[in-house]
Amino acid sequence: MEEIAKIVKDGGGTILRGGAYKPRSSPYTFQGLGEKGLKYLQEIGAKYKIPTISEAMSVDQVKLVSKYCDIVQVGARNVQNYDLLKACGKQKKPVLLKRGMATTIKEWLLSAEYILSEGNSNVMLCERGIRTFETATRFTLDLNAIPVVKKLTHLPIVLDPSHGIGIREHVPTMAKACLAAGADAIALEIHPRPEEALSDGAQSLLPDQYKKLVSELKVLAKALNREI
Ligand code: PEP
Ligand code: MN
Repeated sequence: MEEIAKIVKDGGGTILRGGAYKPRSSPYTFQGLGEKGLKYLQEIGAKYKIPTISEAMSVDQVKLVSKYCDIVQVGARNVQNYDLLKACGKQKKPVLLKRGMATTIKEWLLSAEYILSEGNSNVMLCERGIRTFETATRFTLDLNAIPVVKKLTHLPIVLDPSHGIGIREHVPTMAKACLAAGADAIALEIHPRPEEALSDGAQSLLPDQYKKLVSELKVLAKALNREI
């Protein structure tokens, strides 16, 4: 955690994300460290003065994640878990709501309403790729969602090209496309030794790739009259 926090911070990242409760497709793969993982994240976030985010998969986990982290993530698989959304709406920490892999933009925005209508107005939407007939990539990142969502709502939109394409060498290209299309923030998975990663190593950027990408994003942002 500490090694990655240093890389994130040095490279210009502004939020540190780590999964303590992992929604894995297989029950036999690493499921996360649970509360112990949240404690590591909190400790390292405080040490490196960087806000933290982690996923809650159940109503019970919302309390724990909001206790230790600055932002609560609702993952793609839980976008229509209405009890979970309501619980996120009842607590005060901002929420990152990921789009489901088979969720329409309308359904996704209605899910955001579940959080908003409980009194939490700090919701960020996150496009992370949808499932199409294409199998050459892990998912199909729906860049269309950026202008469409921006027209329909004032909520910020975060783009996740790591899950969106799922292939390390192509993540930087898609990250730049996300910024060009108007993303408010970009979520990137990073690992210093991706072959040792317990989850999503194939889509995790190496530290040097991440640093190079951020410097390119800065140039691109300038051309678009924006700042990162
Ligand atoms: C994640 O953010 O690492 C994650 C599990 O993503 P998603 O819910 O989009 O699959
Ligand atoms: Mn992941």
